[in-house]
Amino acid sequence: MIAATYTQGGAFAIAEVPVPSIGEGELLVKVEATSLCGTDVKITRHGHRRLKPGQTIILGHEFVGTITKAGSKVTNFAVGERVGVVPNIGCGFCEMCGRGLMNMCPDYSAFGINMDGSHTEYVRITEATMAQGNVIKLSKTVSFIAAALAEPLSCAVNGIRVAGVEQGDFVLIYGAGPMGLLNLMLALLSGASEVFVVDMNDERLEKARSLGASRTFNPKLGSVADWVMNESGKRGVNVVITAAPSPEIQAEALKLLAPFGRLCLFAGLPTGSPPTAIDTNAIHYKNLIVTGMTGGAPQDYRTALRLIEAGRVDLSQVISHVLPISEVAKAYDLALAGQGMKIVLASREAMA
Ligand SMILES: [Zn+2]
Ligand SMILES: [Zn+2]
Repeated sequence: MIAATYTQGGAFAIAEVPVPSIGEGELLVKVEATSLCGTDVKITRHGHRRLKPGQTIILGHEFVGTITKAGSKVTNFAVGERVGVVPNIGCGFCEMCGRGLMNMCPDYSAFGINMDGSHTEYVRITEATMAQGNVIKLSKTVSFIAAALAEPLSCAVNGIRVAGVEQGDFVLIYGAGPMGLLNLMLALLSGASEVFVVDMNDERLEKARSLGASRTFNPKLGSVADWVMNESGKRGVNVVITAAPSPEIQAEALKLLAPFGRLCLFAGLPTGSPPTAIDTNAIHYKNLIVTGMTGGAPQDYRTALRLIEAGRVDLSQVISHVLPISEVAKAYDLALAGQGMKIVLASREAMA
C-alpha cells in the first residue's frame, strides 16, 4: 500500500509499504478519510521529539475508517463497523491518563507521530488504543470526509472551553486558517455575540465572514489594537484566541482584551523558540487570564463528533481538497506549499 512516511533525522518519502498484520487483540482499519494537518508538515521539516533517531513512521493522525479485520480476542468491535480514532494514546498509568486527558500524558504515543498513522490505506489499531476509549464508533450516516475532521475540531472544543467563551462575549481570533475557522464556528455556537477575525489573507477573511465573523481585519492595513478599540466601542474583547504561531501576536493580544479578558494561546510556537516578552502589567491591572492548551482528549473528540453528526458545524467550508489516497504525494505537495485549507485523502467509497 502507498504511504507518506518520515524517518527521524530528516527524510520524508512516499513509499510502498506492506499492509500491517495484527495481533489477536488488535484491529485492522481501512482508512476511509484522513486529513493533513500543520503537524504533519512540521514533522516533515523538523521531525518530532517523540521519535527515536532513525525511526520511520507513516504520517497522519486525523482519520476515520472501517474495521476490516478484528483479532480473535477483540470483543467490543466487529468487522464492518465505522470508527474514528483519537490519535493520542496515553501511558494509562499517570494522573492525566486517570482523568481521561491522554493529550496531557507526559509519556504519550500517537498515530502519525511515533506510531504508524493514516496517510496510507490501512492502520493497525493496538489494544491500548481500544482499552483507553480512543476508538469511537461513528453513526451509519455521518460522512467519512466530515468525520475525519473530528480530531482537529476536538482541539477547538478544548480551546473554546479553556478560553471560557460565554454568552454575549466579543471573541477575537488571530488566523483564519482551518483551525481559526473551527474556533470561529465553536465560539458562535458557544454564544459569542460577535467574533472578530484577523488574518493577512483577504480570501480567508471573506471565508470567515461567510461563516459568521462579524468583523474582519487585515493587519497590512494598520494597527490591530486601534481597529479593535474602534470596533468595540473602546472596551476591547473578552476573549482572544491565537490560531497563528507568532510571538508578536501573543504579545499584542494582551492589548486587545477588556478587563477580566481571557487569552488562549491555541497555536504553539516552533520548539526552541525564544520566550515571548509580554506586558505582565496588562495582566495585573486588567485582571486577565492567560492560558493555553494542546490537542484534545477523547471526550473532546466525542463532543466534536456529536456536533458533526448533528450538523451543527459545516466542515465542508474548511475543506479545500478531497483527493484519493493514491494521490497522497500530491496532497503533501499542496500542504508543503501552504496551499488550500484542509486537504483530505479519501477512499473511493468515501468519495462516491
Ligand atoms: Zn492534527
Ligand atoms: Zn499517562
